[in-house]
Amino acid sequence: MEFEAVIGLEIHAQLLTASKMFCGCSTAFGAEPNTHICSVCIGLPGALPVLNRAAVDFAIRAALALGCTVHERSIFARKNYFYPDLPKGYQISQYEAPIATDGVLEFSSGGELRRVRITRLHMEEDAGKSLHDGFVDSDRKTYVDYNRGGVPLIEIVSEPDLRSAPDAAEFFSRLRAILVWLGVNDGNMEEGSLRCDANVSVRPRGQAALGTKAEVKNLNSFRFLQKALEYEIDRQIELLAEGGRVVQETRLWDAAAGRTISMRSKEAAHDYRYFPEPDLPPVLVDAERIARIRAATPELPDARRRRFVETLGLPDYDAGLLTQSRSLADYAEAVVQAGAPAKAASNWIMGELARILKEHRVDIASSPVSPERLAGLIALVEQGTISGSMAKGVFEKMYATNRTADAIVAAEGLAQIDDEPQISGLIARVLAAHPDAVAQYRGGKTATFGFLVGKVMKAAAGKANPARVNELLKRALEA
Ligand SMILES: [Zn+2]
Repeated sequence: MEFEAVIGLEIHAQLLTASKMFCGCSTAFGAEPNTHICSVCIGLPGALPVLNRAAVDFAIRAALALGCTVHERSIFARKNYFYPDLPKGYQISQYEAPIATDGVLEFSSGGELRRVRITRLHMEEDAGKSLHDGFVDSDRKTYVDYNRGGVPLIEIVSEPDLRSAPDAAEFFSRLRAILVWLGVNDGNMEEGSLRCDANVSVRPRGQAALGTKAEVKNLNSFRFLQKALEYEIDRQIELLAEGGRVVQETRLWDAAAGRTISMRSKEAAHDYRYFPEPDLPPVLVDAERIARIRAATPELPDARRRRFVETLGLPDYDAGLLTQSRSLADYAEAVVQAGAPAKAASNWIMGELARILKEHRVDIASSPVSPERLAGLIALVEQGTISGSMAKGVFEKMYATNRTADAIVAAEGLAQIDDEPQISGLIARVLAAHPDAVAQYRGGKTATFGFLVGKVMKAAAGKANPARVNELLKRALEA
């Protein structure tokens, strides 16, 4: 029997606000444990939450980019459960009336268009963090850092529309790119600001009813997501093929062992005893506010990619690479605006610039070579002032010394010799010094041409314009 996998993802994304969801504490990552906390976010009796307006704006921006319907009235609820990293004993989330529903994300995977529906996008607060190691008595004790408690999150829940592990990884990757592009999330999965849980089941191909699903938690890289799903799909198929059944449960990905392991039986919604949060009124956002946020949303990656192809004339491949991030796309566009031909700009950005930035671990937004200066270098190549290979050396110096291409070329006398009398003079000297080669060429042994070009270039200390040398040498030999 042939089986197919059915996958839905739940993605938690921390919003890039300066302060927490319901108090003024900082959301900065990496502070000393329990220094960004107050009576609200550690849940002292009587402390009252106040909603962060910027967090709501960010949630709406993300929802609109995912094509969701944003609801003018949504409600916060208490999700009750007991865990050491949750000091209040409940998490403030949204349950029956989330801020947004019914979106869709389209992306291509393996060259095919995929369309995954977004069930809902809701706001909630993050929990604290249990620290299991790093302390002298960590073998006996667990510590808790509440700095993360109360940091604003959006949870994005997809419909079970995904059918393979690579598609799921691609979906997560596209979603991350969009959230980072929008400026609502930093995309940092290592620090946990973007996390993914996957619901996966299998069923005989052609069967409409869904199989029993397992939830795999905390998949914090695209690779782990893909590997965990591949493992889990195989595990479930094997189980069913042997006549067994899948148990509804929560599982964890053990990256070292390369397998998922059972963590606990899966809670049902009623286990959380959801009820409306009595300390917060319903969230009201009017149509005008939604329209304002929509108008301020930056052009999305797919639209920009199309524009790069249609108006800049870039190949789709280049446009795809240049719209991997907003800062990269902004940089490319600025180079073109400064006068560089789009394809030359793209080649430099994806080639030399990408290489040197990666080597120095520098983000393109803080590149020491500004878009205007890169355009200046490209102009020198386009005008024939320097050759393409000389330009690479100039570029290295621009990166290291913060000077313009013009200044480096002038200071180091790098400009190509393009002057006809000057090159012709060099050619005459070379031909006079190598009468045998000249005779051979004229006798039909054209392979000596390359030898003579080499001699002329050497006589010009490598600075002659090679195209001009070729042209003038040919003319001289055939005269
Ligand atoms: Zn606080």
